[in-house]
Amino acid sequence: MAQQFEDKFNRKFYYLRLSVTDVCNFKCTYCLPDGYKPSGQKNSSFLTVPEVKRVVSAFAECGTSKVRITGGEPSLRKDFIDIIDTVSSTSGIQKVATTTNGYRMEKQVADWKQAGLTHINVSLDSLDPRMFHQITGENKFTQVMAGIDRAFEVGYEQVKVNVVLMKDLNSQELPNFLNWIKDRPIQLRFIELMQTGEMDDLFHKHHVSGVAIRNQLIANGWILKVRAVNDGPAQVFVHPDYQGEIGLIMPYEKSFCESCNRLRVSARGKLHMCLFGDHGVELRDLLQNDLQQNALMERISQQLQNKSQSHFLHDGNSGITPHLASIGG
Ligand code: SAM
Ligand code: SF4
Repeated sequence: MAQQFEDKFNRKFYYLRLSVTDVCNFKCTYCLPDGYKPSGQKNSSFLTVPEVKRVVSAFAECGTSKVRITGGEPSLRKDFIDIIDTVSSTSGIQKVATTTNGYRMEKQVADWKQAGLTHINVSLDSLDPRMFHQITGENKFTQVMAGIDRAFEVGYEQVKVNVVLMKDLNSQELPNFLNWIKDRPIQLRFIELMQTGEMDDLFHKHHVSGVAIRNQLIANGWILKVRAVNDGPAQVFVHPDYQGEIGLIMPYEKSFCESCNRLRVSARGKLHMCLFGDHGVELRDLLQNDLQQNALMERISQQLQNKSQSHFLHDGNSGITPHLASIGG
């Protein structure tokens, strides 16, 4: 193995979040409220399958064992199965995950599994179909729920479900969600709303801290699980009476960045040190043939020395990220 990717704060990077498209068919109020609009960038094609192979191989060679394929909506890629297959067949990659809005899951999840997808996160912001529609702009609640059921049928032992916590919208749904996961092996992950460049007053209107949920969980006998080395930043709680688990993702907590173990590559081949960083580093010129792998690893390694200790969200600075679909949430 080449030298492991590590930054100057001794953080090691086991986890790559790879965006494969900016495009999305949903209009989530906190992400693409007006729907997807092409960016008009000159080099506007998304990473090809051979480019994906090269970038993932370089990361794997330097210690990365987990890749999350994200977007936009990754399942909109016509070659999504080839992408999963390419990532999962890369030596050293043990976990291949995706984050999806679940729209295509019912029909396609069996093929995703067969291609080597080991973990799934589905976004489902409400258990009330009308609220789901209001938040995502799409009346697709039934399809997404059917997709989750199908994932269990085809053999996934656990499905993670992402819920963006929003005051006055879904923040009162904890009892319903708890009821839903009592007998289902779902890890339900409440994500605090994050402020991005294109968000106006939505953040101030709807942001709510996960602390109230954490306090309720602890008061009701939920216990914090110990983190494994390539786990994400979620604080995961378990309870003996529940098959499901609760994860809390609270990027505004002080210690959030201490355990950062992930890097991001955008759908157009830029390396991002942080979801809320201020620039992306071009990798695409080094993805055009297999002979440049060493140069690629070297560039990533060098750039890691510029990774900041923490994001600056507390100061209202969300970097260049206009919305999470743009560099892969
Ligand atoms: N389209 C896929 C989906 O929605 O699952 C994958 C991409 S999406 C950008 C990844 C995750 O980021 C989703 O769970 C979404 O809810 C979350 N997300 C998007 N914008 C967010 C924001 N401003 N704050 C918190 N979470 C956000
Ligand atoms: Fe699309 Fe996901 Fe953004 Fe919703 S959160 S608009 S599903 S990319």
